[in-house]
Amino acid sequence: MPEAPKILSDSADCIDDIVVENNNKVLKFIEDVTADADEVQRRVLSEILSRSANVEYLQRYGLNGCTDRETFKKVIPIVTYEDLKPDIERIANGDTSPILCSQPISEFLTSSGTSAGERKLMPTIEEELGRRSLLYSLLMPVMSQFLPGLDKGKGMYFLFVKSEAKTPGGLVARPVLTSYYKSSHFKNRPNDPYTNYTSPKETILCLDSYQSMYSQLLCGLFQNEDVVRVGAVFASGFIRAIQFLEKHWSLLCKDIRTGTIDSKITDPSVREAVMKILKPNPKLADFVEAECSKGSWKGIITRLWPETKYIDVIVTGTMSQYIPALDYYSNALPLVCTMYASSECYFGINLNPLCNPSEVSYTLIPNMAYFEFLPVTRKDELTGSISEPTALNDKEKQQLVDLVDVKLGQDYELVVTTYAGLYRYHVGDILRVSGFKNKAPQFNFICRKNVVLSIDSDKTDEVELQNAVKNAANQLLQYEASLVEYTGYADTSAIPGRYVLFWELSVKDSTLIAPAVFEDCCFTVEESLNSVYRQGRVCDKSIGPLEIRVVENGTFDMLMDFALSQGSSINQYKTPRCVKYAPIIELLNSRVISSYFSPKCPRWTAGHKQWCTQN
Ligand code: AMP
Repeated sequence: MPEAPKILSDSADCIDDIVVENNNKVLKFIEDVTADADEVQRRVLSEILSRSANVEYLQRYGLNGCTDRETFKKVIPIVTYEDLKPDIERIANGDTSPILCSQPISEFLTSSGTSAGERKLMPTIEEELGRRSLLYSLLMPVMSQFLPGLDKGKGMYFLFVKSEAKTPGGLVARPVLTSYYKSSHFKNRPNDPYTNYTSPKETILCLDSYQSMYSQLLCGLFQNEDVVRVGAVFASGFIRAIQFLEKHWSLLCKDIRTGTIDSKITDPSVREAVMKILKPNPKLADFVEAECSKGSWKGIITRLWPETKYIDVIVTGTMSQYIPALDYYSNALPLVCTMYASSECYFGINLNPLCNPSEVSYTLIPNMAYFEFLPVTRKDELTGSISEPTALNDKEKQQLVDLVDVKLGQDYELVVTTYAGLYRYHVGDILRVSGFKNKAPQFNFICRKNVVLSIDSDKTDEVELQNAVKNAANQLLQYEASLVEYTGYADTSAIPGRYVLFWELSVKDSTLIAPAVFEDCCFTVEESLNSVYRQGRVCDKSIGPLEIRVVENGTFDMLMDFALSQGSSINQYKTPRCVKYAPIIELLNSRVISSYFSPKCPRWTAGHKQWCTQN
């Protein structure tokens, strides 16, 4: 297998030479691993299976130590999280026998995908941190081919940790990025001009989101002339930072002017780290104040950080809804999506990072995991639904397509086998083959399967929405009213964005229903949604209060007529549970009679319902 590049070597004697040498090594690694993709995949699977030959899960299916693809595909089933839940619960409850993986499970990564309303728990092992670091180490050498000089400036990245919990068996459960930022791979990373950030690590590791954001913005503003790139993980996080700046710039300017840090920042390690950077700078404070107090915030990023060359944020998938806002704030700087990853496994990178956001494709790096692909049929652009072959027979199971065998233009659902103990696991993402880098395919991210609404990292599927709406609509029965039809959309025209539901009612006397009843319905929907949604509402404040818009009778008939006029088939028409297409949203909005907002935040606590929290 092509050997992973070392981050930096000492052999050259000047830093520029080291950077060039390292970039070349990384690019060669990408060439090799993509040219040899099938052989690398064969060896990855064989390595995973030989290491895990003794694990209970593989023995249960009678793999008997075989490590070849054919036997593996024949005997090991394709599974979802629900299938693995009993095994995962045993591990969470303290069973340390080799159930899924021969190496000890070091922690659980809590996914933004949910099961029964709670985050899914992905087992991981210590060595996966190395694999994640490897993928990160590929990003800047690729980027530098297109934009030279990035090693000469700093990155202003807004990075955050989230609260963690302990499973009953004592394993830590936390999001994958929290795990990574707290690891020595991030905290003690070697001096590398490409990981030179304006935020000291103490500001990133501060759990209090206000203190963390404030201190990261303060450091970013103070070093504004050094900044050559800005970013966050997802577009929603970056927009949140700009919105925070809109609210708090005068306090930040005061700190820059005086070289002190506001008393609301109480975390001693954050204060100490920031004070090592900050000095009184009245000239800079005047400049920031002048820019922020201008009426318009158009182009604020390039105004405050004039050397910025691009914004590094994910704008693929549902995050594309934030592209207009990012364009506005940045005067259309390039939006760069560098990587595609998950709690299960880090998948791949974008080899053409300056491409248009609508054309982003990710090359899966073949030594991250063993990848298989389930063909799915095309997406219905109007209703947003993807259909796929239902129950697979044994023959079809074996015919899941290997990495190098996918077909250009075809959509697939991603299935992974990882070093940490997932075997033929449905990730839930739908990808479309857009091209090839050598033998390795490149994919457009199409969507997360079944997700109908998403503002930040929340992913609400059709069933969750249906149950939540049902719970709420039950409250109308006592007023002799019932819900006839509904649909929803993620409204991100204001920050934070919010879920909007359009409700058509059958009601005897609408004057009998007080606004408070509908507000209660909004709240009940929120209370019924999954914990990632509720965390976004309560803790991150990244999602605004849910809104119900009651529409005139007959609106959903009009919606159906519209869909039929656009070519939908009358036999197959179902009311879409989410709408994205602007003319449909316009139609629905033109028929709104009244609208109501959730009056308060739903309940949320860290960790799964039944666990005690650590923080
Ligand atoms: P999580 O398990 O919470 O880490 O979320 C992982 C999921 O986020 C993936 O399975 C995708 O659905 C989504 N995701 C990650 N990276 C990207 C990307 N570059 N573009 C679109 N969606 C992404």
